[in-house]
Amino acid sequence: MARIDSILRDARAGLEPGDAELLLCHALGRSRSWLYAHGDDELDTASAATFEALLARRHAGEPVAYITGRRGFWSLDLQVGPATLVPRAETELLVELALQRLPLDRPLHVADLGTGSGAIALAIASERPRADVLATDASAAALDIAAANARALSLGNVGFRHGDWFAPLAGDRFDLIASNPPYIAEDDAHLGRGDLRFEPASALASGADGLDAIRVIAAAAPIHLLAGGWLLVEHGFDQGEAVRALFRAAGLVSVDTARDLEQRDRVTLG
Ligand code: GLN
Repeated sequence: MARIDSILRDARAGLEPGDAELLLCHALGRSRSWLYAHGDDELDTASAATFEALLARRHAGEPVAYITGRRGFWSLDLQVGPATLVPRAETELLVELALQRLPLDRPLHVADLGTGSGAIALAIASERPRADVLATDASAAALDIAAANARALSLGNVGFRHGDWFAPLAGDRFDLIASNPPYIAEDDAHLGRGDLRFEPASALASGADGLDAIRVIAAAAPIHLLAGGWLLVEHGFDQGEAVRALFRAAGLVSVDTARDLEQRDRVTLG
């Protein structure tokens, strides 16, 4: 038997910050604050074995979020699974930019294309109770998870539709359309490395230059935007210029790219 604090200290080696804590919380069914308050407790043998098994999966490359089935995004605790991309902190920039364009005091129509776990749609719905948010995804399994997240969070202002990009939204128009589509080139070596190996290829890769999904979204956006509405799309750090060109070619105006915390192009708006 060993103390929780020393077990955690040993487990941190070779993992990313916070991973060991998340896995031990999951093994024990306890919160992080419980863990820190009980550092001098002895861990029983069964829990230690459970934790060891989770650590082994992480060392084999499986993302922590798939092992625990949860991921924090914005202020929300979301269910995730191998059918969905693991929401990234970078995507919170897109949510922030969207909220700046969504007044609190009137009803709004918002779309999230390729919603995955529902991260963007649910974050916006939670911050804008008067907004009607429609989320689409080509994966029925992902939509099931997104809908379960909406129920668990009691967010009744989000609807879900099955299909590619705008396909299930014929005739609908929005004040704001957001998307974090796949944007990695199909032959990019990163797809075979790290956590990306475990995530759905359809959520990550999009054509020879990674821009196939954004081409479709930008081209169709104008007929789905209300007057003065906004399209916001996340993309790779080296795709800003190409995405701005696609937005302008579609007839969008006020086109600009916002940078993430690392000062890299991340979200284009128009
Ligand atoms: N919209 C979801 C997210 O931001 C899924 C994105 C994706 O699968 N490409 O996490």
